[in-house]
Amino acid sequence: MDIDHHAEELASALGVDKEEVKADLQNLLQYSVPLDEAKQSVRRKHGGSSSASDAAPLTKRIGDIGPNDGNVSVTVRVLTVGTRSIVYQGDEQTIREGELADESGVISYTAWQDFGFEPGDSVVIGNAGVREWDGNPELNIGAASTVGVEKETVETPYDDRIGGEANLIDLQAGDRGRVVDVRVLEVESRTISGRNGETTILSGVLADETGRLPFTDWKPRPDVKEGASLRLSDVYVREFRGVPQVNLSEFTTLETLDEPVEVTDSAPRLKIGEAVDAGGMFDVEVLGNVLEVRDGSGLIERCPDCGRVIQNGQCRQHGEVDGEDDMRVKAILDDGTGTLTAILDHDLTTEVYGGTMEDAMAAARDAMDKEVVADEIASKLVGREYRVRGNLSVDEYGANLEADEFEESDDDPADRAMAILTEVGA
Ligand SMILES: [Zn+2]
Repeated sequence: MDIDHHAEELASALGVDKEEVKADLQNLLQYSVPLDEAKQSVRRKHGGSSSASDAAPLTKRIGDIGPNDGNVSVTVRVLTVGTRSIVYQGDEQTIREGELADESGVISYTAWQDFGFEPGDSVVIGNAGVREWDGNPELNIGAASTVGVEKETVETPYDDRIGGEANLIDLQAGDRGRVVDVRVLEVESRTISGRNGETTILSGVLADETGRLPFTDWKPRPDVKEGASLRLSDVYVREFRGVPQVNLSEFTTLETLDEPVEVTDSAPRLKIGEAVDAGGMFDVEVLGNVLEVRDGSGLIERCPDCGRVIQNGQCRQHGEVDGEDDMRVKAILDDGTGTLTAILDHDLTTEVYGGTMEDAMAAARDAMDKEVVADEIASKLVGREYRVRGNLSVDEYGANLEADEFEESDDDPADRAMAILTEVGA
């Protein structure tokens, strides 16, 4: 049924102009409000009864809810409650998001008003809209929904997720209302153009025992400073070029911890295939053989304005420029499960080359060919195994690992064979 049909049906039931009803409906639908809920909202706006012609929502177990279920009623345990402010129909509005569970499964929800439930509460939610997000059903709890207290605790195998406490390594894009204990490793202040004009934000790196992640504090707090050990409650996680980022909103609360949070010095070691499938990772370590040193390695020239690598004195952005000399390596790394391109900056490149920038320039002059530098690097790297640590981004240009560390592997082949056998055995 198309929107015209719904608008006509509503307009004749309410005795109002069809175009007005249609505009209201479209407005709601573009914010992914489920159709049934949008119709109820429009009915209420024009003084109609909200539920007169709606079938009673079905009571369902979470595991049985499908994306096309319309409206449902559920009896659930609240796992997490995250608070966020969004702009909806031109107005700033505070919404709550998180996860609900019963014995059959877990489902994400958005509540358009504060129903007052907290993590750990057992509640009965009536007439929640079901919408689809990324192929999965989600619950939309709006003005037409009811939330009541369930006296008996709802049993769920997911009760260890109540409250949203998490380690950094477990955070995923889309997580809401999470609680993390972290140490601030790096922080800097930046000015950006936001929806309310210029604002100052903080960004940097957080760490715990399991890993490190970039973060943004949208409402800079003085306690977020380098070295601070903090409990951050109600953070949400977004993704940037495949890497999860921790976000502190105006609703995030912060507690300074007396005990310093232990942080790891090592990055999680992953198979290349796993790391690439994860869609990017901040601070990861892989082990692989260099198959090839790609074009654009060795001596290169960069645009003085934007730092992009230029070809024949031409920057893609700035046209003809006076290029600045630099060195880098783009090495294809393979471990049998996948490949990625490890990108070595100036310093790592001079290390693997075994000479300075001046040495490289001199070698190129002697040979009257810049390529001798890349050739020399290739002769050292290709066929050998390296341990590479850095930030992995995955996008339409491929999987690139910006290396912070690049070292020839000293793993004993016998140890590695044992490790593989142990893994196979487990
Ligand atoms: Zn440029």
